[in-house]
Amino acid sequence: MKFWFVTGSQKMYGEETLRQVEADSKEIVAGLKLPFPVEYKLTAKSNDEIVKLVREANFDDECAGIITFCHTFSPSKMWINGLNLLQKPWLHFHTQFNAAIPNDAIDMDYMNLHQSAHGDREHGFIGARMRLPRAVVAGHWQDPAVQQKIGDWQRAAIGALFSRDLKIVRFGDNMRQVAVTEGDKVGVQMTLGWQVNTWAVGDLVKEMDAVTEAEIDTLVAEYEKLYDFDQKDIEPIRYQAREEIAIEKILVREGAKAFSNTFEDLYGMKQLPGLATQHLMHKGYGFGAEGDWKTAGLVAVIKAMYPDGQASFMEDYTYDYEHELILGAHMLEVDPCIAADRPRIEVHPLGIGGKEPPARIVFEGRAGAAKVLSMIDAGGRLRLIVQDVTCEKPFQSMPNLPVARAMWKPQPSFLKGLECWIIAGGAHHTVLSFDITDEAIRDFARIMKIELVPINASTTCEGLERDLMLGDIIYRA
Ligand code: MN
Repeated sequence: MKFWFVTGSQKMYGEETLRQVEADSKEIVAGLKLPFPVEYKLTAKSNDEIVKLVREANFDDECAGIITFCHTFSPSKMWINGLNLLQKPWLHFHTQFNAAIPNDAIDMDYMNLHQSAHGDREHGFIGARMRLPRAVVAGHWQDPAVQQKIGDWQRAAIGALFSRDLKIVRFGDNMRQVAVTEGDKVGVQMTLGWQVNTWAVGDLVKEMDAVTEAEIDTLVAEYEKLYDFDQKDIEPIRYQAREEIAIEKILVREGAKAFSNTFEDLYGMKQLPGLATQHLMHKGYGFGAEGDWKTAGLVAVIKAMYPDGQASFMEDYTYDYEHELILGAHMLEVDPCIAADRPRIEVHPLGIGGKEPPARIVFEGRAGAAKVLSMIDAGGRLRLIVQDVTCEKPFQSMPNLPVARAMWKPQPSFLKGLECWIIAGGAHHTVLSFDITDEAIRDFARIMKIELVPINASTTCEGLERDLMLGDIIYRA
């Protein structure tokens, strides 16, 4: 994927100045160190040029977004028709070629060339006037902090493109009676592009029966490289490998990057997929348990934004008021990419579901600053709740809890953080991400036009309640 860099100008300045504008723009592009490549495309001087460029951007599958910057003044009426057509994410980069004013060199020619302080205000006006969603980043292009912000937006734009193409396979329906994992699939496809459809568990079982011993041998060899396990438990582990291979075959066949299942519908399967699901997540697939396709999709999107990052399906389970910590875990399905140490595979009975003891990956989550994200259907709109948390490596050994687990403290404080989460309606299922930044998630929500509810160090319950009431007005259809 590539991002297109477009410099705004006009014909009034003459050839020589425009050549300088182009040379400077290319130098800026070459100097940006970003997670995804940027290509200089054009110094725009007319309505027709901008319309043509936007049409090309819309139809180029490799164009992930456009970055604009006005080196000189670029009158905004010539941008209106093009911006009206723009379907790709837009970042307005308010930078300037020179970092400082040269005392001797500055004259009116210099002023006319280096006038983004002036031209970018005209450009900003038209973005605001047209109420177009766009990220705005100000600062000198060589400043690493400025480049970091552009990188955050790039990841959001990549997440948006991925989202608009995302297919989610559901094996079985929702867990009976659960509300928060429900949602308007038609509405979500209209907003996020997600295609959420169901496949029969019986078809998965048929696919499992067709898996060969040789295929299982190969996958178990991969498990051996990544995880410790006892060879006397090998049969349940091989069964999980069979499940993983079958699930992945269906995902690949359908072009899907996420899936959900439910322990209430495992007809014909001997084990709830534990290790299978965990290793699929580790490979980059999104997952949500108990039919939770919204969290499955969100896991996949965040993994697409941070391909080498650490993000997992997670569930808030139980509290330690004394240490002010939440213990997060699931029946089985937590991604070993968040492990503090080398994970191990264990086989134990499961209290729920009435199946054979499943093999699962057991580990303790790592420490560090992270975020938990929950996307709920708030009725007529999606609400993305994002809470800052501080993860701690679990301090107890918990010898009778053989599942992957993580611990964290929510912001703004333990109890206020819990109150805010409950007020906002955040689910018990989340995505735990060690990578995603405030900017990236804000950019993503803006591009997708969904409600964003951040809960962080500066959040108060009073302010949050007011914001949610404002949201009810803003998003009233
Ligand atoms: Mn659950």
